[in-house]
Parts: sequence; C-alpha cells; structure tokens
Amino acid sequence: MKDVVEAEKGEIFDIELDVNILEANRKLANENKELLQKNGVQAIDVMGAIGSGKTSLIEKLVQNLKGKYRMAAFKGDLTTTIDAELIARHGVEVIPINTGKECHLDANLVKKALKRINLEGIDLLFIENVGNLICPAEFPLGSDKRIVVVSITEGPYMVVKHPFIFMDADVVVINKLDLAQAMGVDVKKLENDAKTINPKVKVVATNCRSGEGIINVINALEL
Ligand code: MG
Ligand code: ZN
Repeated sequence: MKDVVEAEKGEIFDIELDVNILEANRKLANENKELLQKNGVQAIDVMGAIGSGKTSLIEKLVQNLKGKYRMAAFKGDLTTTIDAELIARHGVEVIPINTGKECHLDANLVKKALKRINLEGIDLLFIENVGNLICPAEFPLGSDKRIVVVSITEGPYMVVKHPFIFMDADVVVINKLDLAQAMGVDVKKLENDAKTINPKVKVVATNCRSGEGIINVINALEL
C-alpha cells in the first residue's frame, strides 16, 4: 500500500477562516452554557452516526425520567422532523432544528432554539445532533455532558476510526447489544477502544428498543 495523502499544516487555504468559525462557535457555546446554568437547566448532547439509536435512547431516557425532571429536547436534522415527532410522543416539548446542508448543529442554532423555550420551566434538556461522528466534536453547543452512541451494527472499528468525538465524551453508549452475536462484534473491544482514547469515559451497553441498560445510562449521567 502507498502512503496516505495528508494535508500539511497551513496547506489548507481557508484554515484561518475555519479557526475563526470555531472560535465564534466556542464563544456562543459559552453564552449558551451561562444561560442554561442561570436557569438551572442541565443540557446533555447526544451524538452518533445515523441509525445508531440516538432518538431511541432519548425516548427511553424521557420515559424513565418522567416525574423526576421537567424535560425538553432539541433535535437537529437536515430537513426532516421525523425524530422530533418520535420524541414529542412522550409528552416533552421538542424543538426541531433543521440545519439545511450542514452536517452538524452549531452553538448559533442552539442559541436560537433556546429562545423558543421557557427555560425556567425545565430542568433537563437533551440535544440530539445530526447523525455524524466527525464535526460535532469540533462544535461545542454549551451543554454540560456529552453522550456518544455507537451501535453494534456499525462494526468493530467505529470507535477507533473517530477518536476525536470520544475524547470529549462523558458517556459512550454501545447500542443494539442484542445484535452483537449476529454481527460478530465484540462489545468489550468497543469498550476498550473508547477507554483507550478517553480513560475517564463511562461506557454502557444498551438495547434502546427493549430498554435494557437504560438505568445504567441514567446512573452514568448521574441523573
Ligand atoms: Mg435520530
Ligand atoms: Zn458537519
């Protein structure tokens, strides 16, 4: 095999622009964080690939935490509101955020969504990002904790191929546990990969359809 083609430092033409965008995002994320804290709202990011089970996880968390917290959710997607409707079925306020062509949420869109809810009326906010394991790592939104969902059906290399998103994660959820044998994927390997990248991360295996492991996710989030 030949060597990998890689950009050298400074080789990308708009690198300066990129840095400015990331800095502007970081500033807005800090403002969001302050606003949330001022109103006593704990915000939790839910990130992961398309079909990994982010929405199912939020649905199960909402069902289990009803009565304990007043909750709301933001749901990022390119153009649809399918997931937003799935979460809204459980009686929580959901604000869909459509990013158009952007493959991730940013702090500016979250700031706009924050203006649409009564923050004094909620304690807990779930923010489901667009299905993507790459750029959400670079765009903090102002949340307190970050969950990354990886599913067994994505194969054994999903974690090692996307190290950056796991570095900042608080909890990694390995979902679709029921399919591990059929897929020939070793759950322990995925867990070890995540811990190698981020020794502090908590790893929980789940089946978000049946609800298996959801209590462990709640404990890992200290909710
Ligand atoms: Mg979803
Ligand atoms: Zn993106």
